[in-house]
Amino acid sequence: MPNLIFYQKIKINKGEYVKLNIFSAAQPSGIPTLGNYIGTIRSWNAFQKNYNSIYCIADLHAITKRQNPKLLLKNSLDLLSIYLSCDIDPKISTIFMQSHRPEHTQLSWMLSCYTYFGELKRMVQFKEKSKNNKNINIGLFSYPILMASDILLYQTHKVPAGLDQAQHIELSKLIAKRFNKIYNSNIFNVPELIITQSGSRIMALSNPKKKMSKSDKNKNNFISLLDSEESIIRKIKNAQTDSDQPPVIKYDVIKKPGISNLLCILSELTGKNIIELETYFSNKLYRDLKLEVIHTVLEHIKKIQKKYFSIRSKEKYLIEILQSGSEKAKKIANNTLSKVKNAIGLHS
Ligand code: ATP
Ligand code: MG
Repeated sequence: MPNLIFYQKIKINKGEYVKLNIFSAAQPSGIPTLGNYIGTIRSWNAFQKNYNSIYCIADLHAITKRQNPKLLLKNSLDLLSIYLSCDIDPKISTIFMQSHRPEHTQLSWMLSCYTYFGELKRMVQFKEKSKNNKNINIGLFSYPILMASDILLYQTHKVPAGLDQAQHIELSKLIAKRFNKIYNSNIFNVPELIITQSGSRIMALSNPKKKMSKSDKNKNNFISLLDSEESIIRKIKNAQTDSDQPPVIKYDVIKKPGISNLLCILSELTGKNIIELETYFSNKLYRDLKLEVIHTVLEHIKKIQKKYFSIRSKEKYLIEILQSGSEKAKKIANNTLSKVKNAIGLHS
């Protein structure tokens, strides 16, 4: 279980607990990276035991960047197979595809009428994804409203996500509170971010000043959960460190971003805290740290890959999971959407 800062159930009456609702998602914009795994997907299995868990394949978000039409479904099924290989159980959790539930885009339009241009203009992800990009479409700009809709439709209490999504979740809270206030209601739960302690922002291996992303053009920047052993070894061996003499293995994101990133990866995957690791690696070489990271990463990734290939070949089973997930999601989504429409004065 990763080190989570925020992990709790609420108690309503004496001795009576209610399960909170969890919502999380990833885009089928490529195979998840080690960053996605450490930052979110790895914790989903533990959450499903204590929360009503809803895990989404965010294909509508993925089309903010051009996707190959022949590959979008394949990529979504790849992503679903990764979820299952990380022990998300479709009998316990609801797993579904965003585009299968029209309520997401319907609510998104409505909520866009309760969100201000200036609020979206401040979003860092939009600024970053617009850089060196000729396709700065409106979807990329209004992405956070669709994300707020994903979350708010399911009366979500907790959203496990990476630090890069913190600003979007703040906006989701703002929209939820604003809507509730305007209509003097509690139509939406106001969600909270759940974040892992040191793994909420795993950095790119060759450029540890930017985050690891699965859609990075430079494949050396990320480790994909389906990378071969050789390529994982090569990428970690070539990860950027620094030229300090003598070498110092210490956590300092400003002066030593590469070393800090490797320490974070190791800490999250082994459960050892950073101070413990610094002590263990004092007087050791960067090569020693990298070898330990390689060993640990391979241990995790091999387990996932062992399950992945047999799951991925059962395409009919995968489609069935999405169909039944969509049916389960429909009930909750429809319920929230009707309340929203009623509040606004829209009638079906
Ligand atoms: P893309 O480059 O296509 O946006 P991505 O790697 O950012 O891909 P997403 O599908 O957008 O992946 O995000 C899935 C989840 O993984 C989100 O909760 C996000 O916050 C988290 N996440 C993404 N990158 C990292 C990272 N480097 N470290 C920790 N968590 C991350
Ligand atoms: Mg992303």
